[in-house]
Amino acid sequence: MDLPKLAIAALGGTVSMQARHASEGVIPTVSGETLLASIPELTLLAEVSIETLGLLPSASLDFGFLLNVLSWANFQIKQGAIGVVITQGTDTLEETATFFDYLWDHDAPLILTGAMRSAVQAGADGPANLLDACRVALASSSRQRGVQVVMNGQIHSASAVRKTDSLALQAFSSPIVGPVGLLVEDSVRYLRPPVPRNVLPLPVQTTQRIALLEASLSADSLLLENIVGLGYAGLVIAGFGAGHVSVNWAERIETIAQKIPVIVATRTGSGATARSTYGFDGGEIDLTRKGALMAGFLCPRKARILLWLLVGCHRQDELAKHVSHT
Ligand code: GLU
Repeated sequence: MDLPKLAIAALGGTVSMQARHASEGVIPTVSGETLLASIPELTLLAEVSIETLGLLPSASLDFGFLLNVLSWANFQIKQGAIGVVITQGTDTLEETATFFDYLWDHDAPLILTGAMRSAVQAGADGPANLLDACRVALASSSRQRGVQVVMNGQIHSASAVRKTDSLALQAFSSPIVGPVGLLVEDSVRYLRPPVPRNVLPLPVQTTQRIALLEASLSADSLLLENIVGLGYAGLVIAGFGAGHVSVNWAERIETIAQKIPVIVATRTGSGATARSTYGFDGGEIDLTRKGALMAGFLCPRKARILLWLLVGCHRQDELAKHVSHT
């Protein structure tokens, strides 16, 4: 019987890390082929092709590189793969998942995974996560769900997932909504049906800069005052609470929003921004009146990716539509 085709790419991260010498820290050196050798059971489930597209810590991935990875993944689907799996570092996994999800125009699943323990650590979670990710990518129930993150036996949708712990094995969660599915006794179980997705065209420009600034107590406004002059094409604010800033910042935001799009999200890590509750200067009603857009459930980092992509395909006027869909 012909096995389904599955394509895997390794980009680096802890899942690919080991130390050259016992006294040194771990760095990404383990190839995709070596990762694959750690899960021999996969050969019974799929005809696998694997490529090492990078060996980078995920903090050093960038949008240009991710666009190349996306075009590799598109090619794999065109060649008959029924799903694609990408391994990478977990530090930016919530951002790369969002980036790919906005651009992934297939019913076939694109699954991202990584590890919290390096390849040489006792109880390394990389092989188990990779095998789980492959099972999810091969499941017919994963179709029409876009990009998902598989870690520690859970499946998270790209739009909701966040890294919420720096070192724990259970590092990923989807605040408010929870995981969209689970691996139960090696089988893929979804807890909710797929939801309609908004896919964007590929960016036609990639040089735009989108700033992300976090509101903090007694913060000065020097960076804000210079945002437009420095050439930024958009601004995301990780605001206090339900999406608030100081009076001082609110005044600057009014000036900035006349020139470039400004999105205000919450810095809390969970929940949505408010729309019509607080009436003080710097509250959401005031910021909306001053021309900023409230991010809803979109976290600051995901909002920055959305804005970068929209500016990149000259569709920033559609920003409100995409935010209200999240
Ligand atoms: N904890 C991170 C990881 O899981 C460190 C490095 C990275 O993100 O590449 O991979």
